[in-house]
Amino acid sequence: MKERLTPIEKINIASEFAKNFVQRWDLKAIQRKDGSYLSIKHPLTHDDILDHLKGEITLGAYVLNPDSMAHFTVMDADDETNFSGLIGVSMVLMARKIPSYIEESRRGGHLWMFFDPMDGWKARSLGNTIAEKFGVTCEVFPKQDKLGEGPGSLIRLPFGVHQKTGKRYGFIDRTGNPLAPTLLEQLKILSYPEKVQLSDVESYLPTKKPVNLPGNSIQEGSGTSWSQIKEKINIKDFIGQYVELRSSGGGAMGKCPFHDDTHNSFGVNEKGNYWHCFAGCGGGSVIDFYMKLKGVDFKTAVEDLRQWTK
Ligand SMILES: [Zn+2]
Repeated sequence: MKERLTPIEKINIASEFAKNFVQRWDLKAIQRKDGSYLSIKHPLTHDDILDHLKGEITLGAYVLNPDSMAHFTVMDADDETNFSGLIGVSMVLMARKIPSYIEESRRGGHLWMFFDPMDGWKARSLGNTIAEKFGVTCEVFPKQDKLGEGPGSLIRLPFGVHQKTGKRYGFIDRTGNPLAPTLLEQLKILSYPEKVQLSDVESYLPTKKPVNLPGNSIQEGSGTSWSQIKEKINIKDFIGQYVELRSSGGGAMGKCPFHDDTHNSFGVNEKGNYWHCFAGCGGGSVIDFYMKLKGVDFKTAVEDLRQWTK
């Protein structure tokens, strides 16, 4: 950044930039020389962001905020072929009036989509669905649906120096030219990015969480009962009483008992001990299955299923 800016101008630039890109101020991640990140339990400050923009340090940007919400989805292609694919995706999205931004990187590059904060799993699903639809192989951020123990995935905060190459990477337009002539001008554009309207991407968004992995779905207590049931009931045998299942891969497929299924939309994963309907009926543990099938609550399901664990 140019030194001719006044200190107040610099702080304004940092805080406007941070509005979209910084999800948490309670800790920071600093890029090491090998490109990896060191997470530091020390508050992030506007001065840190200015140091990042000046190239004195390089910060990582956490993708989920402490409430597991996301302001953006990033698709990260790490080779030229897939990066070209992302530029193609950006063009198609633009034709549908869905804004996205392309950033170069060490290898390949990133496609960024900004929106008003939404659940992390939706943001992730948006990227994954687009990648699949367009056949682009890339990593999608956020990498987690929801935060667990740690602060989750992070991506290099734009406009810094990549520690591994010593280079700065900017944003480009769809013809490969810089989005604006200077990084400062690009920074201003990205501080007020055009946002994706959720109504425009509804076709890319699931209506509910696609795979309800066991553990995620259990809200109530009875941890012991749940783990006993999980350990002792073979989900394939149990569901096999109600659904005609055919073995395939690590599980089995059949007609979904929850909708008028003309395909084999219903899958059981033996290893993960969960079921899932690909037509949108949901999924989950054996308890979720029983609740849905019998129309009973969690407590009743656990009580009824307990006999199966004996
Ligand atoms: Zn179904």
